[in-house]
Amino acid sequence: MSSQDDSSSKPTTNGEIIIGIDLGTTNSLVAICDERGPRVLPDAAGRAILPSVVRFTDDGPPVVGGEARRLAVMFPKETIYSVKRLMGRGLDDVAEDIPHLPFDIVGGENDTARIRVGERIYTPQEVSAMILRELKVQAEAALGTPIRKAVVTVPAYFDDAQRQATRDAGRLAGLEVVRIVNEPTAAALAYGIGQGKGAKAETIAVYDLGGGTFDISILQVTPGGEAGEDSFFQVLSTAGDTHLGGDDVDRMIMELVFEEIRKEFGEKLTFPPCTQQALRNFAEAAKIRLSNEESAQLQIDLGDGRVYDRMLTRDELEEMMEPWVQRTMVACDRAMRDAKLDAGKIDRVVMVGGSTRIPLVRKSVGERFQCEPYTALDPDLVVALGAGVQASILAGTNRDMLLLDVIPLSLGIETMGGAVAKLIVRNTTVPTRATEKFSTSVDGQTNVKINVLQGERELVADCRSLGEFELRNIPTMPAGIPQIEVEFLVDANGILNVSAVEKRSGKVASIQIVPRYGLTREEIDTMEQESYTYARQDMHAHRIIDLAVNSCLDIKWIRDAMERVGEGLDAEYGEKLESKIARLQEFVDRSHREPAKIDADEFYQAKEDLDQESVRLHEQAITRSLKEEPAG
Ligand code: ADP
Ligand code: MG
Repeated sequence: MSSQDDSSSKPTTNGEIIIGIDLGTTNSLVAICDERGPRVLPDAAGRAILPSVVRFTDDGPPVVGGEARRLAVMFPKETIYSVKRLMGRGLDDVAEDIPHLPFDIVGGENDTARIRVGERIYTPQEVSAMILRELKVQAEAALGTPIRKAVVTVPAYFDDAQRQATRDAGRLAGLEVVRIVNEPTAAALAYGIGQGKGAKAETIAVYDLGGGTFDISILQVTPGGEAGEDSFFQVLSTAGDTHLGGDDVDRMIMELVFEEIRKEFGEKLTFPPCTQQALRNFAEAAKIRLSNEESAQLQIDLGDGRVYDRMLTRDELEEMMEPWVQRTMVACDRAMRDAKLDAGKIDRVVMVGGSTRIPLVRKSVGERFQCEPYTALDPDLVVALGAGVQASILAGTNRDMLLLDVIPLSLGIETMGGAVAKLIVRNTTVPTRATEKFSTSVDGQTNVKINVLQGERELVADCRSLGEFELRNIPTMPAGIPQIEVEFLVDANGILNVSAVEKRSGKVASIQIVPRYGLTREEIDTMEQESYTYARQDMHAHRIIDLAVNSCLDIKWIRDAMERVGEGLDAEYGEKLESKIARLQEFVDRSHREPAKIDADEFYQAKEDLDQESVRLHEQAITRSLKEEPAG
């Protein structure tokens, strides 16, 4: 593998690293981008997400992040969150937010919004600076070097005062904010949109649905030069709702639970605040579960032997969420109208924010914009990753990033026995599409795992897994009968969509991946070189695996047929079959122990011999079943 010298792969100007920061309403993150692609920088405990929460204490420095959030209920007046809503705003501007925030908000100079904690007054910039400083320290610890410069993201609709306040917060934290970037632009950058050799002009929508806010932005992307430094993102329009998000769904579930509890156990039941908080967490957990599963059990012990217990299905939740999703669609329509575009003119939709993990949201967005939304990157990280990309562009190190108009390494899936079936070979130009048919190898198999692989070698162990997903609930069928079609679709930005459909039942599943991230150019060269070095050995290994898999299926079918024919099988023929089965079984067994030592041609011959010998048996078996079931 290539050199592990990290210092050469960090974004720097004159040896100086620039970090990218997503300074969020709820959560904040820091990221950088090197030739492997963008990545977030976690804290010492491995957590990348820093809650944007600050608690002021009487006797020490403020507490920032997870601990401040956890104890927020205990210190409602000292714990500051959602400070982003106050940045650069006047008291009038935030009148709508004040009732939602338990801490004191007062007017400062020129009636700007300030925060009062005890005797002290803080500006939103000062509070944001505490969050930024925490991220700076986190990045310095992760990279082992001092940081002085940052790119910070803001919503596209932020005005000059809000942007200036963000810059000032950076300065207070000891960071020069070298660029303020719009969050939707950052999301697009994270996906490599508008960058690389093959980049085309595109119109994209960025759909950002978080916990408490919803933003839709429509951008015109004009690609820049070879390395993409000059690509240009113009905001055509923005729309949204500053009080719409995943929290609403939590509330819907809570209300359902309250109502049903009252109905079942008495109208007079009341719920103290701490119970309400616990129920909110409970509701959120159920919501998140239903993004992956079809149903979730809601069970609450109310004491005195009273237990509230019911199943909530995804269908039910989707019915409850429908009007909520529609509200986001109305905003999308407004944004398109403002940009004077209709849905057909939008080339891509990028999904941002935790609530875009909800399947109904994905489906509705896909339908409205008539395209498969981009979900390959973690929606919590995508803005920070893009800030990291912008930082590396400004530092002049983005040149090394892999932005190719071809697939750098072959793409395929794992098949039986640890072999790789390649669907798209390296150096194919994008966009491209390939399909292949597979089946099951075990009787009654209802779930099939699809492992997406990248690399030139023939065995799974020598390739890199990009991700896996499961095709579930296939009806029970004998091995080899289900028809699973796997499709690989790589679009012009190099984003890979893998989908699998079982044709007989119509069951589908899919995954989206950014295949170019995580590898350096040298690593790709090494992988290619190794594929030549090991070509002969790999081919042999692959052939032995295929022979073993097919032999097992053959032996199984022959044994099934022998059983069906039963008494009707003449003894001498039965013995012949048994000896040929034994010989082939021997090869199969050896293929697990010492595959390299097997002569593949001999193995093949043994399989052929058995297949030839069994022709008569299969005829007998068919005749037999026709007799038993004359009707059909
Ligand atoms: P914000 O932009 O407000 O900071 P985030 O982007 O962090 O918010 O999103 C947080 C929201 O995403 C919360 O409402 C959370 O419940 C929701 N969320 C996170 N994961 C899932 C999931 N798997 N399914 C549904 N909602 C989710
Ligand atoms: Mg967000």
